[in-house]
Amino acid sequence: MHHPPVTIHDKQFSIYLPERKILHNVEIVAARLSHDYRGKKPIFLAVLNGSFMFAADLMKEMSTPCEISFIRLKSYTDMQSTGQVKEIMGLSEDIKDRHVVILEDIVDTGHTMAGLLPQLKKESPASVEIATLLIKPECLQHNLAVKYPAMSIGNDFVVGYGLDYNGLGRNLRDIYKVM
Ligand code: 5GP
Repeated sequence: MHHPPVTIHDKQFSIYLPERKILHNVEIVAARLSHDYRGKKPIFLAVLNGSFMFAADLMKEMSTPCEISFIRLKSYTDMQSTGQVKEIMGLSEDIKDRHVVILEDIVDTGHTMAGLLPQLKKESPASVEIATLLIKPECLQHNLAVKYPAMSIGNDFVVGYGLDYNGLGRNLRDIYKVM
């Protein structure tokens, strides 16, 4: 299939990860999660907005009973702590004693996940793991265990399949990288 470059705002993007490759890798993660969480009725917490397509495709491939809920993160700077704190918005489910799997679109520096994990752990879940569509290992600045990455990429800015550039590009079926 031919994928011409796309223009979003002021930037040009070229094809990077075609849809079939994305879906293949999402299926592999879903199979691993289905195996590891059999009988544990995990609760997925999908981080909006970027993870909505990943969350939908992953859920369709799960073969063990599981729940899903959607959260948003609001960043604020706490002068007492080391800086950025992620306030969780929309967590209506009680996650005490539950097996939680965070669904993220992309782990870049890891600041977001490093900020979110302690907030979730305060709620005393039985376990917490991270599943992410993409990870940029070269950019990681935290000692973060990301157990379920679907795909690793280099230090490129990407859009599509839920990921945006200033609000646009989320509708693209494939993932593109900036030219
Ligand atoms: P981190 O906190 O790990 O540095 O970054 C995580 C967040 O930064 C992601 O949830 C995403 O919103 C944004 N981000 C990082 N890299 C990219 C990228 O290449 N493309 C897009 N669209 N967002 C990114």
